[in-house]
Amino acid sequence: MDTATVTLVTGANRGIGKEVSRQLAARGHTVIVTARAEDAARKAAEEIGRGAEALALDVTSAEDVARVTREVAERHGRLDVLVNNAAILYDTWQRAVTADLDVVREANETNLYGPWQLTQALLPLLRASAHGRVVNVSSEAGSLASMGGGTPAYSVSKAALNALTRMLAAELRGDGILVNAVCPGWVATDMGGAGGRPVADGAAGIVWAATLPDSGPTGGFFRDGDPVSW
Ligand code: NAP
Repeated sequence: MDTATVTLVTGANRGIGKEVSRQLAARGHTVIVTARAEDAARKAAEEIGRGAEALALDVTSAEDVARVTREVAERHGRLDVLVNNAAILYDTWQRAVTADLDVVREANETNLYGPWQLTQALLPLLRASAHGRVVNVSSEAGSLASMGGGTPAYSVSKAALNALTRMLAAELRGDGILVNAVCPGWVATDMGGAGGRPVADGAAGIVWAATLPDSGPTGGFFRDGDPVSW
């Protein structure tokens, strides 16, 4: 059985997910770096180096989720931290009044049902941890308090992910598993584009939620460790 904290990050081949993996490996976690493409996962894990392992995982694939769950169980017997980072479709070209609902469904497959089915599958392994943590990487675009028009597929998927965060936190409180949503802020990645803050800064707030002490919050929405309005 590993003594190091065992962490799984989705969408970890580039952007914020890769940087979160790098920062957690540097803190001594065993990080399972996952990506849709197996070679991309392997390349990222090699670049991160010590502590990083690779697995292929498309979060929309029930087969992938089942295989990864089996692999983690065989390799580690438990999971301490799950970072649901993978997401798609920041649909700046759409408006709610005319949105293509197939695009909205596609966004939800990855941004909502993906983390939902993965968390469900990994729950026995998270329960086997003494300090389970789930971090749902969200966005202020999903905040109802500041919701305006635009990016309908993305915003609805992140609002729903926030709702899921609240429910999972309530249902898993008794198991000692802390579940929080984190907005990384506007970050200069392929999704965020140029002008955002450095990826290391966006990743830091996710690392904060992934490494909370047992007395830490659950069912919250945070940026840089500070609460964000739902
Ligand atoms: P990114 O650079 O576009 O990277 C997205 C990652 O998700 C890629 O690794 C991608 O893999 C992966 N992915 C997409 N669909 C997947 C699937 N079905 N299964 C597994 N992996 C999948 O995005 P980012 O900026 O790093 O964003 C990371 C998180 O932060 C997302 O949840 C995003 O919504 C959130 N966020 C970002 C910003 C920002 O300004 N960047 C702001 C607020 C919130 P491939 O390489 O295979 O496509």
